[in-house]
Amino acid sequence: MIPGPIEFDPAVMRAMGAPTTSHVAPSFIESFGRSLEMMREVWMAPSGQPFIIAGTGTLAMDIAGANLTEPGDKVLVVSTGYFGERYADLLKRYGAEVTVLKAETGGIVSLEAIEIELKKGTYKLLTFTHVDTSTAVLVDPKPIGELGKKYGVLTILDGVCSVAGERIIQEEWGIDIALTASQKAIGVPPGLALLVVSKRAMETWRNRKTPVANYYADWGNWLPIMEAYEQRKPSYFGTPAVNLVAALEVSLGLILKEGMENRFNRHERTGRAFRAAIAAMGLGMVPLKEEYAANTLTAPRYPAGVEPAAFLKAMSSTDVIVAGGLLPEIKNEYFRVGHMGQVNRSDIVSTVCAVEVSLAACGHRCGPGAAISALMESY
Ligand code: PMP
Repeated sequence: MIPGPIEFDPAVMRAMGAPTTSHVAPSFIESFGRSLEMMREVWMAPSGQPFIIAGTGTLAMDIAGANLTEPGDKVLVVSTGYFGERYADLLKRYGAEVTVLKAETGGIVSLEAIEIELKKGTYKLLTFTHVDTSTAVLVDPKPIGELGKKYGVLTILDGVCSVAGERIIQEEWGIDIALTASQKAIGVPPGLALLVVSKRAMETWRNRKTPVANYYADWGNWLPIMEAYEQRKPSYFGTPAVNLVAALEVSLGLILKEGMENRFNRHERTGRAFRAAIAAMGLGMVPLKEEYAANTLTAPRYPAGVEPAAFLKAMSSTDVIVAGGLLPEIKNEYFRVGHMGQVNRSDIVSTVCAVEVSLAACGHRCGPGAAISALMESY
């Protein structure tokens, strides 16, 4: 129950374990082409350009940053935790002049504060983290997309902890890039960087004055490959992660079979019910308000008197694996529980029980069954 890698569907794992084909085998070309087509449906970006490139989520961030920034470009980074800070560092490497609007821990940056910056009229690009995995804070992408359009600023959504879990309607909301990695709500083992790019962002890249400063990331190398696979033609730039792409085709198929609206609603129900159970145990959360709380993971704060090391040790004797804190300034004050992808009600019930038992072992008692009652009531 960590926030990635998540547990994967057996059908996805079977694709991982199948014999590795050539990257130009007809069956693989079909898998790649289908995966690109399905990405447009999952991202809800019918005219977007999808990219599937071997690497992690950080590479997806790097690809977006490298292709859209030129030295001296002004970028606004809206930060709600650890991964916002990472984006600021990354963009500076490409010579961007970065301004960071940093939320207080567990909070969000107000739209007013974002608009005041964008009104200055000097920004080319804005990045924000849809769900920051270090704080479990959820940011509403829709009004940020609107501001981007209003002020002619490209918007990049870091969706590593949100795509295929939290609601995203990329094209309608005017988000220029929505990027993720395979190991979270997409439901494929780690190793794929996935992006869907708007026409406006591709145009900005085409009009660059300087070469892309990262050879591997350059869309000039990858766009012909994505186009060839979609046209069901063989091509080569760098050898694709054949088994991961085969697994991606299976997982995207499962996601679309569930239906995007059903999937978003299921994640919302799961998140809400799990938070209700955590609250019934008397624990606070890192997100300062319920409306900022993500549905893909939860970040409960330890109650007074519970030592992180003792709690995590007690948890390790249950069958449930959770993650410790990540944001350096509050690292020892909270833990994290992922609940995205295939997670079902039984998993959630087991997790709630394991947390309750482990807290009790550390001296924090709550009414037995109170958490499960709150969970079932919410469900
Ligand atoms: N952004 C967010 C919001 C993340 O949660 C992560 C990974 N936890 C990343 C970026 C980086 O992804 P990766 O670890 O795959 O490089």
